[in-house]
Amino acid sequence: MTNNRLYSPKYVREIIDRYGFTFSKSLGQNFLIDGNIVRKIVQGAEVTRDDYVLEIGPGIGILTEELALNAKKVVSVELDRGLLDVLEETLAAYDNVEIIHGDILKIDLKKLIDEKFEGGPIKIVANLPYYVTTPILGKLLEESLNIDSITVMIQKEVADRMVAAHGSKAYGSLSVFVNFYSRPEILLKVPKTVFMPQPKIDSSVIKLNIIKELPDLDREKFFQVVKAAFSKRRKTILNSLSTYGFNLDKEDIRKALEEAEISPQARAEDLSLEDFIKISKILPPLYI
Ligand code: SAM
Repeated sequence: MTNNRLYSPKYVREIIDRYGFTFSKSLGQNFLIDGNIVRKIVQGAEVTRDDYVLEIGPGIGILTEELALNAKKVVSVELDRGLLDVLEETLAAYDNVEIIHGDILKIDLKKLIDEKFEGGPIKIVANLPYYVTTPILGKLLEESLNIDSITVMIQKEVADRMVAAHGSKAYGSLSVFVNFYSRPEILLKVPKTVFMPQPKIDSSVIKLNIIKELPDLDREKFFQVVKAAFSKRRKTILNSLSTYGFNLDKEDIRKALEEAEISPQARAEDLSLEDFIKISKILPPLYI
């Protein structure tokens, strides 16, 4: 164990000055400098000595260190080559951490989980770069990986949309997408002041508990229906589905909605995940 817990702002400053590191806005580099938040993230993720953890974007290793202290093994993927020497120094005391240089969006994660984590299951924990939050979560959820949970710091407003229930203003296709694959819960709200440099937006830590048994349906069709429904959120579900460009008659859509016991006059934001599942199962195949 090291005496230098990395999240002291003075230590972060000293490290970045010594390595001549400059923060890259385009890589979403806002490093955590608050030990309480770092501990709360790892506690919220329920990381134990039995756990394999994949971290995305270790930065200078602030969260990585806390993960190393609690997990069996941590693999962290960092895109910025300029941080590799820093990480070698800051994490030198931990033999259960491996840093991989690469872009999380391009890495074969199935292979990584097989090779580094005996096939999993794994937990994912990260303070995500904001500019790629949605593509990263999309990839993690869609690729049928052996993941138990994903605990990540993201933009507060995006986290609110992910947990939004039908009938609320923030509810949309992102809520349906995330709830299809997981049970999301917001663990904590995080002020701007715990980052260096401070971002303009507030953040939340959200935990996605992965659902292992997904509904048995044509996923592509299901998400096409959701996309079409929310493409015109003020229109009725009947109108948005019938004007989207599917190969379906308005009357066929009306019949399908009635069979699913959904009012053709309802709007997308009134429909639950289960409603969308019912509609997509009843509708005939879609061609765009
Ligand atoms: N975990 C550190 C912390 O909490 O202080 C840093 C978090 S910072 C918000 C995001 C990190 O992700 C940065 O280190 C950045 O270089 C890295 N990053 C950005 N895009 C990435 C990508 N596509 N793949 C892997 N890492 C990436």
